[in-house]
Amino acid sequence: MRRLLVLGSTGSVGRQTLEVVRSFPGRFRVVGLGARRNWRAAAEQAREFGAVLALEDPEAARRAARELGGRLRVLGGPDALTELASTVPADLAVGAVSGLAGLLPNLAALEHGMDLALANKETLVAAGELVTATARRGGRRILPVDSEHAAIHQCLAGEEIAAVERLLLTASGGPFRDAAAEELAAVTPQAALCHPNWAMGPKITVDSATLMNKGLEVIEATWLFGVAVEQVQVVIHPQSIVHSLVQFVDGVTMAQLGWPDMRAPIQYALCHPERLPGPVPPLDLLRAGPLTFEAPREDAFPCLRLAYAAARMGGTLPCVLNAANEVAVELFLAEKLSFTGIPRLVEAAMAAHRVRGHPSLEEVLAADAEGRRAARRAAAAC
Ligand code: MG
Repeated sequence: MRRLLVLGSTGSVGRQTLEVVRSFPGRFRVVGLGARRNWRAAAEQAREFGAVLALEDPEAARRAARELGGRLRVLGGPDALTELASTVPADLAVGAVSGLAGLLPNLAALEHGMDLALANKETLVAAGELVTATARRGGRRILPVDSEHAAIHQCLAGEEIAAVERLLLTASGGPFRDAAAEELAAVTPQAALCHPNWAMGPKITVDSATLMNKGLEVIEATWLFGVAVEQVQVVIHPQSIVHSLVQFVDGVTMAQLGWPDMRAPIQYALCHPERLPGPVPPLDLLRAGPLTFEAPREDAFPCLRLAYAAARMGGTLPCVLNAANEVAVELFLAEKLSFTGIPRLVEAAMAAHRVRGHPSLEEVLAADAEGRRAARRAAAAC
């Protein structure tokens, strides 16, 4: 039985992880669950799996403990997820927290002997060097749950990274793929939250609409696979059937295909290296329809260019890009910032930052705080 921690269990990836777990009775034991504040859903999950529960919100933790009647251990407070990953032994942690809030719990899981099934790309964007070094030091694996990176991981099975010419990350293009650049200023949160292919949480759905999600994935790919940023190319593929591709030096291209269903990369990471029949329906090419590809429109979606610039510079700059983006997305969802204001805030925060190379954890957290402050300042000045 593989013991699992699910960090971010009430979010979209967390819930789908538990769905995959339920379809393999006897194979996994969920020993710990972590969430922010959704105590009702979290307590129900804890009861079902008999797991230790951690909630970031102290009041939510008190309510969950009351609900569970003292039968299960409940941790509460801002560090509860890190405490969970540090004190509950497990084989694999699923990192499904949204945003940089996932960094410390993910690091704790790697430091305490767990492999990491990573859906939380912000962790690698902000602290890729630190997180991958921590995994290497402890001999732990980072298995991508992000669908594009899971695709690349599968295309690279049995291959040498030196034989890779480039990685091709596919992007749906989001709901505004064809919108005129001047229409984007008036985009509402409701419109941005309607993703054409994938059902996901609000932060990543907005990131998909700005293409920042793809920019973050470019940076994520450099850390996961040890390639240079120039070797990662983005291709718009509106049908989301080809999940990503690898081109090798001999001119061969490998791709992984499937329906857009997050349970597929989740199952891949949970079961790796085994392949087992599960809940994901196989692709039917005749029903998938035509598959098309186009270049991203960098004029309308500057977030992609900003992410490439941050990746090229490296050091603390990707962390600042991510921090400013998290603030900008929150403001946009609260209707306090326009859609086109998101890249403006990110660019302003990046311009104000003095980059530090090979940042320590303290320097990453300081750069994150600085990026957030700079984005709020830029928003106030808008
Ligand atoms: Mg993705």
